[in-house]
Amino acid sequence: IYVLGIETSCDETAASVVKNGKEIISNVVASQIESHKRFGGVVPEIASRHHVEQITLVIEEALTQAGMAPNELDAVAVTEGPGLVGALLVGVNAAKAFAFAHQLPLVGVHHIAGHIYANRLEQEMEFPLLALVISGGHTELVLMKEHGDFDVIGETRDDAAGEAYDKVARTLNLPYPGGPHIDRLAHESDGAIEFPRVWLEEGSYDFSFSGLKSSVLNYLHNAAQRGEEIPPEHIAAGFQNSVVEVVTAKAVRAAAQYKVRQVIAAGGVAANKGLRTSLTAAFDEKGIPFYIPPLALCTDNAAMIAAAGTVMFEKGIRGTMAMNGRPGMELASWT
Ligand code: ATP
Ligand code: FE
Ligand code: MG
Repeated sequence: IYVLGIETSCDETAASVVKNGKEIISNVVASQIESHKRFGGVVPEIASRHHVEQITLVIEEALTQAGMAPNELDAVAVTEGPGLVGALLVGVNAAKAFAFAHQLPLVGVHHIAGHIYANRLEQEMEFPLLALVISGGHTELVLMKEHGDFDVIGETRDDAAGEAYDKVARTLNLPYPGGPHIDRLAHESDGAIEFPRVWLEEGSYDFSFSGLKSSVLNYLHNAAQRGEEIPPEHIAAGFQNSVVEVVTAKAVRAAAQYKVRQVIAAGGVAANKGLRTSLTAAFDEKGIPFYIPPLALCTDNAAMIAAAGTVMFEKGIRGTMAMNGRPGMELASWT
């Protein structure tokens, strides 16, 4: 089965061909980061305009790199939501047009299901499985008993981890997106400020990062009032230590409670070196297999959408020509 994946939910215009939901045949990503950098974040109107400019080229390039004609495909999978409405619409409409023109079935994929299924491009998923989804817009622990079965056992009550990274980075005057810069500074640092760990109620798998973010801002504000210079790397290291410790501890506890056979990480923040090291060591000690996709599959791409879309396609799930972008789409099981 060959599926063309299309992803335009945020600031990456991406298309990819995946074989049998596991093997990348081609994977094209046109990033808009340079255009959004000077605004310190993604500007929705600019994102939509770039998607419109890029989408046809990116789809053509994915087919060219795969050396395939449209009639060799079995389906088209596209990110239906969540994301920026204008951005989503570009991908959804391109997918509908392509599916209609070539008489192909259409599948609408949840972006986070895509991030989770990025792992299947590396190794087979084993159930029960725990997915730690940690990205620009999400921080979730998802328990899966089988393919397409998603039970969100914990999620953020305020900011997503990536959002907190980007906000802290901005106050340190680091370029957008700030996550990788904080990560690098944290590793270069010879010290770390102690910031609080937010555990929430006993036994909860939920997360909260806005309090941590505020502590960082208050700390910097108070230091400035005293005329004190705080090395930014000490802030970065302290912030990262807090995020890493809480995320690792909750993921390990959930994996043990639900006796999972595999733990996978997904989403842009899974690229974080501190987090990768901490999670790898913790699951190693517990003897639970733990995987993180390579960097290029952690951040937004269309191969992950094709991978998830293939399993949906195999389950007989089909989108219609009435499909629209769903900015607030919930992660629902595939039945
Ligand atoms: P979502 O998938 O929830 O809709 P998104 O697509 O914007 O959100 P991703 O592309 O998965 O998010 O990830 C982008 C986020 O990952 C940004 O917040 C970025 O700062 C963060 N990020 C990338 N690399 C790192 C890193 N090394 N350390 C920490 N954060 C990182
Ligand atoms: Fe994403
Ligand atoms: Mg992105």
